[in-house]
Order: sequence, then C-alpha cells, then structure tokens
Amino acid sequence: MTAPLLSVEKVNVAFGGVQAANEAELDVMSGEFLAIIGPNGSGKTTLINLCTGYVKPKSGTIRLDGRDITRKKPREITKLGIARAFQIPQLFGEHTVVENLMLAVAAHQGFWDGWRPLNRPDFRAEAMRLLDMVGLADVAEANAATLPEGQRKLTDIALALALKPRLLLLDEPTAGVSGDEKFPLMDRLTAVLREQKVTAVFVEHDMDLVRRYADRVAVWNQGRVAASGPPETVFNDPMVLRDVVGV
Ligand code: ADP
Repeated sequence: MTAPLLSVEKVNVAFGGVQAANEAELDVMSGEFLAIIGPNGSGKTTLINLCTGYVKPKSGTIRLDGRDITRKKPREITKLGIARAFQIPQLFGEHTVVENLMLAVAAHQGFWDGWRPLNRPDFRAEAMRLLDMVGLADVAEANAATLPEGQRKLTDIALALALKPRLLLLDEPTAGVSGDEKFPLMDRLTAVLREQKVTAVFVEHDMDLVRRYADRVAVWNQGRVAASGPPETVFNDPMVLRDVVGV
C-alpha cells in the first residue's frame, strides 16, 4: 500500500459549542480527485481551513507526505505544496490577466516589490505558460475585471498552479458559473490537474459534477467523514441519499 499524500488524523476543532471537526479522519491518495460533499455546516470549509493552516485544531494531526504540518503557518504550508483556489477569485481588476499571473509568479519566487515584477520578461514567460495551460492565452491582455465567471475561475486555477502545488484544494470550483459553462470548466480543470500530476480535493454541492468528475467521494457530516468511496457506491447508500442528496 502506498502512503497517503495528505492524512487527517483524529482532528478536533470547536467553535463555541459547535464541533466543526469531530475526531475527523481522512486520507487523500496521490493523484486522486476527491469530492467532499455534505450538508451546510458539516465542516467542509473547516477541513480546507485546517489543511491550509488557517484554522488550528484543538487536537489531532495533519500530515503532508508523512510530515506533520499541523502547527505550520499558511505560508509554510503553501511552500510545502498545498494550494487553495477560492470560491470567489480575487483578482486585481485594473490589471490584465497576464499581469495578475506575473504578480503570483513573482510572489511565489519571494519577489515582493510592488508592480516592478511587471517589467520582468521571465515572469511574463512563466505567466503565459500557465495561461496557456488553462486555455486562456487568448485573453492574456484582457482586463481581469472583464472576464466571464468561468474564465475568472480558470485564472484562479492558473494562480494556484503558479505556486507549483502537489495538492490543490478547491472550494466549489463552479460556484457562480452558468450551467452550460460548468462542464467545459470542469473538463479543462481535471485535464490540467491530471497532466500536471496535481492531486485535488474539491468541495461541491452539484451532485452531477461529483458523479462525473470525482474518483472518490467523502461525505462529511457533523465534523467527520460519514461515508466514502467511488461515486457509484456512495450515491447508492441510503444514508447519503436521505441526508445529503435529499431524496
Ligand atoms: P460547511 O463548509 O460544511 O458548510 P463549515 O466548516 O463552514 O461547514 O462550518 C462548520 C460549523 O462550524 C458551522 O456550524 C459553522 O457555523 C461553524 N464555524 C465555522 N467557522 C467558524 C468560525 N470561524 N467561527 C465560528 N464558527 C465557525
């Protein structure tokens, strides 16, 4: 058996009286595309916040490739290989798409110097490589504020890939994206991540997307995994159908 890339071991987090992680256990294997589903308030976002260092557990351990990252700062965790794409992409609206990418590339290389990175051809070349990867080379010179939602999401993925992650955490990657843009977005996203050998965990409410794109599903309930397995198994589980899918 190979060791998991990420392991969450007996993790507990409480906010007031709410147990947002309750002896939570989860293994993520290298190369998999894992969907996290579950009712609102079940602790899905808390899981992402734990794995990126924004929330610290009361007890328990989180490991990346066997290494304990439980007490590390968000920035150290990013360096070790965990990136996150946000539900609402944050872009500099007054800059072009490629400039946004250049700033991320520069920051990843420890280059924090106002807008000066925008003069560097090497940063531009790397930014264009990333945009090409997600199919956005054509809109590189567009103002970031003008992008339709699907392209904003892909830009956010390119920003996350600038950090050269091994594990990418995605909070509802298609939220806010129109119905007919969802499948093309997910097709592109999964193709890029597989090609780049990036493991991904994504929180998703759209069960059609989960069925189609997840290798495995973990069902979150009351701060822990209530069921997990391939979509065809999980979606035939009466508990999941009743409590999560609502049929
Ligand atoms: P989900 O993403 O599944 O909707 P969350 O992880 O956001 O669930 O929340 C789990 C529980 O923890 C909820 O009851 C929520 O209100 C609570 N919670 C999450 N973050 C905080 C916080 N920073 N402060 C107080 N309560 C929080």
